Amino acid sequence: MASNVKRKYTFNQLQNWLDRYGSPLFVFDVKEFKDNYFHLLDSFRAIYPKYNIAQSYKTNYTPKICSLVKEYGGLAEVVSDMEYKIAKNVGYSDKDIIYNGPIKGPMMEKFLLDGCVVNIDNLKELGRIINLAKEHFDKELRVGIRVNLDIGQGFVSRFGVDPDNGDLEEVLSQIEQYKNIHLVGLHMHIGHSRGVQYWAERAKQMIELADKYLDFIPEFIDIGSGMFGVMDPFLAEQFGGSIPTYDHYAQAVATVFRQRYGHLPLDKQPWLYTEPGTTIVSAYMYLLSKVYGIKKIRGKNFACIDSCIFNVSDMCRIKKLPIEIYSNGNKKRENFESIDLVGYTCLEYDVPFSEYSGEIGEGDIVLFKNVGGYSLVSKPAFISEQCAGIMINEDQSIELFKRKEKVEDVMLTYVTKGDHNE
Ligand SMILES: *Cc1c(COP(=O)(O)O)cnc(C)c1O
Repeated sequence: MASNVKRKYTFNQLQNWLDRYGSPLFVFDVKEFKDNYFHLLDSFRAIYPKYNIAQSYKTNYTPKICSLVKEYGGLAEVVSDMEYKIAKNVGYSDKDIIYNGPIKGPMMEKFLLDGCVVNIDNLKELGRIINLAKEHFDKELRVGIRVNLDIGQGFVSRFGVDPDNGDLEEVLSQIEQYKNIHLVGLHMHIGHSRGVQYWAERAKQMIELADKYLDFIPEFIDIGSGMFGVMDPFLAEQFGGSIPTYDHYAQAVATVFRQRYGHLPLDKQPWLYTEPGTTIVSAYMYLLSKVYGIKKIRGKNFACIDSCIFNVSDMCRIKKLPIEIYSNGNKKRENFESIDLVGYTCLEYDVPFSEYSGEIGEGDIVLFKNVGGYSLVSKPAFISEQCAGIMINEDQSIELFKRKEKVEDVMLTYVTKGDHNE
């Protein structure tokens, strides 16, 4: 099972980058990212023009990528005070930040006062917002409600407010009592439901909910994330073969919005938001890693590579990521029927790719595809520091987006003897 997509690089090109920035190395392709971003945007806008993308920061908050999204006119979707601050550093104004998440940080109140939309997840949070509204009756607080829907996902999600047990009515009636709390939108997000049928269900149920509970047209309806992105055939095969395109999703969702709101003047139509993370970033980030050596133990073959499952991303524990192996021309390369690519950690389960069949040898470079989601941002400084990342700009120039970490970076927050800083 090897990927047969045309190779993008040459060994020498990749080796030059590794010589300059170290190995392993993340590589982000701006042109491919941009094309994909606008493909998603245009698919929806062709049917329902008031659509926009709110980039999920938790998936990958690389500032240079967030800046690109900002430049393309996208919004920032954050779920913590930390992510909010990253969005502010990128240059976002509060009106273009959506604050979600089950436990919002102590700065939520400040953000609300600044004009950021907070999507209420639970009654406890509503209490905080009401307290704020009482203290600042001259300020307009803009809120949405995250609702918890059953779209056939087959499990009970823990996020949002239940519309069926009276909680949603409770939130709505409490909000109504405060003139300065403005309900401006509805939000939902359910994981593990990437199929088009779930998206059709999201659109239908959210519009029904808005019609049932609101006596006005909301400013936005946000239906979260979890779409399949553009995918290498090797990966698509593992998801059952036929992966829907953005046009399929747009047909299922934007059409429903157009039917319900299309007759209204544009400024009265609600914004339709989705919150892609993995969908927009994953396929356009690669990880390069050198083969350190080959090892054979009791009939089992191992290629030791200088990265680990935490660099490569959690995804490699569930699926086999598409890889390309670039040869350095080593004469001793062997053809293996099955060889595990194993990482630098001391964990037995650190196997970024299992049962590879094909040629591989010491000094080769392994290029992992689809590593842009939950990789950079969830890599602990476990055993070794995080590596560097570069981006290939549209004009083909190379730019560093993250330098390699140093041991000093890792030690920065640990208190050592004689160090009394807090
Ligand atoms: C995780 C998450 C996203 C991003 O999901 P992806 O599947 O990575 O695109 C968007 N919105 C919310 C509320 C999330 O929790």
